[in-house]
Amino acid sequence: MNLIYNFSAGPAMLPKEVLHQAEKELRDWNQIGSSIMEISHRSKEFIQVSLETEQDLRDLLSIPDSYEILFCQGGARGQFSAVPMNLLKNCKYADYINSGYWSNCALIEAKKYCIPNNILIKQVQYDKIFLLKPSEWNISDTSAYIHYCPNETIDGTSIYEEPKFKDKIIVGDFSSFILSRKINIENYGLIYAGAQKNIGPSGITIVIIRKDLIGYACKMLPSVFNYHILSKHNSMFNTPPTFSWYLSGLVFKWLKKKGGIKNIEKLNEKKSNLLYQIIDDSDFYINNIDKKNRSRMNIVFHLHDSKLNNFFLEEAKKFGLHALKGHYAIGGMRASVYNAMPLEGVQSLSKFMLYFEKRYG
Ligand SMILES: *Cc1c(COP(=O)(O)O)cnc(C)c1O
Repeated sequence: MNLIYNFSAGPAMLPKEVLHQAEKELRDWNQIGSSIMEISHRSKEFIQVSLETEQDLRDLLSIPDSYEILFCQGGARGQFSAVPMNLLKNCKYADYINSGYWSNCALIEAKKYCIPNNILIKQVQYDKIFLLKPSEWNISDTSAYIHYCPNETIDGTSIYEEPKFKDKIIVGDFSSFILSRKINIENYGLIYAGAQKNIGPSGITIVIIRKDLIGYACKMLPSVFNYHILSKHNSMFNTPPTFSWYLSGLVFKWLKKKGGIKNIEKLNEKKSNLLYQIIDDSDFYINNIDKKNRSRMNIVFHLHDSKLNNFFLEEAKKFGLHALKGHYAIGGMRASVYNAMPLEGVQSLSKFMLYFEKRYG
């Protein structure tokens, strides 16, 4: 098998150690004679897996008992609907912080259920893109909650300051941000994340919600999206995606073994700095996002000469560097370097970028 580094934005690469373990126990999990995929979600074996997975996530993010962890389906886009239907409580308004592609998608979906205040925070000054700080957000008095997206996977921007507004419920789409750095859960009413970026395989969506916010869903909400029903059934109201759940659990154990969030955060900083340094040291590679809002998970850049874009991708692939093409909405390149991407992968990409610039710049 060729050794390659996969920079896909999602579904993204998983830790090699985790895939090896999953491979080893694929046909016979824990000497039960079946794979974990083939047993009931109500079996004591799977319930044990589900509880450990939840506890490990609780440990990693220091989630207090006043918060419930739900394992949902329907992806982050499912939550674009589930959030308003569970949290609006007859309120007509919600604040939607609009920082880019995904937060705008969440806002559009919310229009089915309420009147979202479109709070645009993306600004351009001297050719640099930056995002307004939480203290500069134009929050309304009448909204049921504030929705934002701390890491715009496609735009390559991040908001590092955690928003705090007195008595306001903060909801975060953490799909490409969760577990990448330390956060204080108590600043949030609810955060959600599709697994396929920084957790595990696609199919499972994690919702972490303050318990007092559960139980106010609107009547027509499908039961599978109802936080109260999910919570009452330990996220097993309907059959959950058991394999994704199990594999996410292996990733959590891997992360704990690596020293938890503290260590991975340092590594993520190191990895992204390496790439941004190369970009900033050259006129050949361009990223025009202000330093304070640059994503450490999704590094977007384009070539000064856009005619070289496709050639760059072809050559990169020959060097074993895959999936660097930017999202079609933005173009250019995107290197997604989630937790599972080892430092060696980023070093390999930086070497290639230096070589390519020297050769064709
Ligand atoms: C990938 C992504 C989504 C979409 O996730 P699905 O699981 O496909 O619905 C939404 N928000 C963000 C920030 C993402 O990165």
